[in-house]
Amino acid sequence: MKRLTVSMFASFCCLLAISQKTNPKPASEEGIQRPKLVVGIVIDQMRWDYLYRFNPVFKSNGGFKRFLTEGFSCDNTLIPYTPTVTACGHTCVYTGSVPSIHGITGNNWWDNTLMRSVYCSEDKSVKGVGGKTEEDGQMSPRNMLTTSICDELRLATNFRSKVIGVALKDRGSILPAGHSANAAYWYEGRSGNFITSTYYMNELPEWVNQFNKRKLVDSLYKTGWNTALPAKVYTDYATADQKEYEAKPFGKDATGFPYDLSKFVEKDYSKISSTPHGNTLTVEMAKAAVIAEKLGKNESTDFLAVSFSSPDYIGHSFGPNSWEMADDYIRLDDELGKFFAFLDATIGKNQYTVFLTADHAVAHIPGFMKENKLPGGLFEDNGIMKNLNTQLKEKFGIDNPVVNIDNDQIYLNNPKIDSAKIDKQVLKKWIIQYVMKNAAVANCFATENIMTTPINKTLREMLANGFNPNRSGDIQIILKPGFIQGGLSGTTHGSWYPYDAHIPLLFYGWGIKKGKTNRETYMTDIAATVAALLHIQMPSGSVGKVIEEVMK
Ligand SMILES: [Zn+2]
Repeated sequence: MKRLTVSMFASFCCLLAISQKTNPKPASEEGIQRPKLVVGIVIDQMRWDYLYRFNPVFKSNGGFKRFLTEGFSCDNTLIPYTPTVTACGHTCVYTGSVPSIHGITGNNWWDNTLMRSVYCSEDKSVKGVGGKTEEDGQMSPRNMLTTSICDELRLATNFRSKVIGVALKDRGSILPAGHSANAAYWYEGRSGNFITSTYYMNELPEWVNQFNKRKLVDSLYKTGWNTALPAKVYTDYATADQKEYEAKPFGKDATGFPYDLSKFVEKDYSKISSTPHGNTLTVEMAKAAVIAEKLGKNESTDFLAVSFSSPDYIGHSFGPNSWEMADDYIRLDDELGKFFAFLDATIGKNQYTVFLTADHAVAHIPGFMKENKLPGGLFEDNGIMKNLNTQLKEKFGIDNPVVNIDNDQIYLNNPKIDSAKIDKQVLKKWIIQYVMKNAAVANCFATENIMTTPINKTLREMLANGFNPNRSGDIQIILKPGFIQGGLSGTTHGSWYPYDAHIPLLFYGWGIKKGKTNRETYMTDIAATVAALLHIQMPSGSVGKVIEEVMK
């Protein structure tokens, strides 16, 4: 008995030694339960309804069914602000905040102090690292005014947690990973490389150089793009493959499946973004990061922020009811399934927590709506800014009082109008009357009147959440449902309507219950929920609430 106890004690010590070696928890984190790794996945442009529309073709071992059968789905998750675009979406998911607070009011916005258009992640004080030139990749998260959940994890663990962002789009990688990230990598179409900037480091790590040297893009191009499943499947899910209202990203003669991509080998590395191969490239880069950076095997919880940009490029070109979109989701499901199998093998099943959401959804192509007698159309006023300025010059005698139109907002040159002593209210009223004449416009009003204009309260709240005095416009345009600004082919997003604002929200893995809710939840709730799960502080501009149902 005594001998047994001694040997039990010895093996206990041995086990303790092993467990300390594989997961040596710092004293300051002892007793706090956390997963080894958090993987945040944002699908750039995913409508919530895809989860169920494509459900019959999703594989039993694919990514989406793993979430739906073993994880938790918040089926009624909405974006609580406008404009519903990429930069705002990624920022909101990771900060739990809204543009009025976190400052990312669009992919681009007019800065009323700098008096110029600003790109969300631009930063001329840094240099690109790994691209063709140092100008490729002058990016950082500095325009984002709050912390992200990744920053909070770093703070909570005294910066022991590793945070890495990966996406094809710079903004899909940089904004989620936050200010104190170890690295953010994004794809640069001129070189075909994943690059970063001097904000993070002065040289790419050797593993990234090795990854780039593989030129995976060329081998993916050589496989072309044909449908993954027989044609019959696609006729069940989508309109005819070739439609005149679809854009043609692979050249005017490439009108449908199969797409020959071999012509782009060594010639054009940007085209991969508009194919499902872009998702493969992203997963391969994410896997390389997990292995090389030993994510999930460090002493504190690590965070991998991945964004899949290709669905957005494909969606813009072909729309939600196309063969291309269906095929992209069939392939993405498979890709995610394999990625989770990789994480099971590398980190351990239920040792990591994953959430999946989207930065925004998307409208159907106006041509498709028209074809099916559904409401929708185009905001047709090509050169509206020029037209406005010409007429305002005649009417008020001032040159170019309108300096920008972006995110359905008209920006005025306020210093110029003030010094010309023009009655701004009269000028604004004139612009509003001009815009209201357009058949695509539902409403138009000065942004200073958001709270007093008689509009639906959901819309009012979304507009107020999107309004940042220094980075928003003076006049708000609200298009009618189904209407978009754009050309005759392709589609877009950005409005307050549910087809743009209703997104999937799925959780799976460590600490997550099985189930679903139809209760109204918001994009802003994601960061608060992750914060609660990890027992860390919520980001500095967080306005979300914990979705208690998802937590064990
Ligand atoms: Zn988009």
